[in-house]
Amino acid sequence: MSTVLSEPKVPAGVKLPIYMDNHATTQLDPRVLEAMLPYFTNKFGNAASRNHSFGWEAEKAVDLAREQIAKLIGATAKEIIFTSGATESNNLAIKGIGEMYRERGNHIITQVTEHKAVLDTCKRMEKLGYRVTYLPVNADGLIEMDDLKRAIDNKTILVTIMFANNEIGVIQPIAEIGKLCHEKGILFHTDAVQAVGKVPVDVNTMNIDVLSLSGHKIYGPKGVGALYVRRRNPRVQIAAQMDGGGHERGMRSGTLNVPGIVGLGAACEISRLEMDAEAAKLKTMRDRLKEKLESNLDFIHVNGSMEHHLPGNLNMSFIHVEGESLLMGINDIAVSSGSACTSATLEPSYVLKALGLGDDVAHSSIRFGLGRFNSQAEVDYVADKVVDVVQKLRELSPLYEMAKEGIDLTKVQWQAH
Ligand SMILES: *Cc1c(COP(=O)(O)O)cnc(C)c1O
Repeated sequence: MSTVLSEPKVPAGVKLPIYMDNHATTQLDPRVLEAMLPYFTNKFGNAASRNHSFGWEAEKAVDLAREQIAKLIGATAKEIIFTSGATESNNLAIKGIGEMYRERGNHIITQVTEHKAVLDTCKRMEKLGYRVTYLPVNADGLIEMDDLKRAIDNKTILVTIMFANNEIGVIQPIAEIGKLCHEKGILFHTDAVQAVGKVPVDVNTMNIDVLSLSGHKIYGPKGVGALYVRRRNPRVQIAAQMDGGGHERGMRSGTLNVPGIVGLGAACEISRLEMDAEAAKLKTMRDRLKEKLESNLDFIHVNGSMEHHLPGNLNMSFIHVEGESLLMGINDIAVSSGSACTSATLEPSYVLKALGLGDDVAHSSIRFGLGRFNSQAEVDYVADKVVDVVQKLRELSPLYEMAKEGIDLTKVQWQAH
């Protein structure tokens, strides 16, 4: 007989639904909104207007934002190019470098768990006659340095490897990759959207030549991002993908999104000042969530290396439970699943499959993305709720019963009817 489980109580101060999907986007920090507001109203000037105070005021605000962003990643203000977000930054970096260094070579190296903004851009480059190597990852989600070394040849112009993964939170060996690329004279671009403001990033000590970041993943506004482009040792050149007025040192034309840029700057400034304390708090909450789930449930699997990991990420599979059913059961909690139906395709997450996980593990995965505005009380409710729903779903699952009895499900001969 199964026991009747009671619904977990909502702790005082917790409001439903709970947002725990901070790798998809983050809530705008009220301090960021405050910084932006004047630039939607009376400070509406065009930062490129050179003849009056409206323009100068906007330009001054943009310059401050450039400083704030640069400071967070150890760059200088002149090395920051504003874009519409990290998708554009990744496109600009890969296409712009590919075009500019075409004489030198046509080979690009990336890896299989990149964001689509990198993978699909690389596929486009292949259509344009470039050669692209997609490095595999190990079961932890990390690339092997030996694979990278072997992939480099005399036509390699660019290595593009993400800093931290948006699904499994795994942090690649960025400083090692940067050092190798620097020694070989190959440019190194990193999609650092999930890392900037969350873990220390320094373009100089890590030998990063080009870096993408985005406002809305760091409690800033949507529709604004930046590309860091190294100016010295080496001076990186990027062919513009958008032609026009020659803004942003000619690399990205278009009137600047002044309120968005001010917001991105403010978001970077807050992150720089609060990152250490925030990371410690997120890690404590994440570990608490993990511990509660692990101590109450069997047949669970943590996806990706926990040693090289973002503080706010936990990607876990609840085997013998369908991801979709689990998501429906916890519909007062906003999280993501690696299961099929959350995406346009029928395949489970390509990131989880790249780790060598079976479909059953990939399909039953949940990505918890903790952020600045989550509380411990929320974490406790989420843990209780997930445990409750997983237990209830498993009570209905004959596969779970069989697995618990020690039957190896991969060896079962299923009878066809
Ligand atoms: C969100 C995200 C992007 C896309 O950024 P946008 O600013 O939304 O275009 C790119 N790479 C990673 C790793 C991301 O998480």
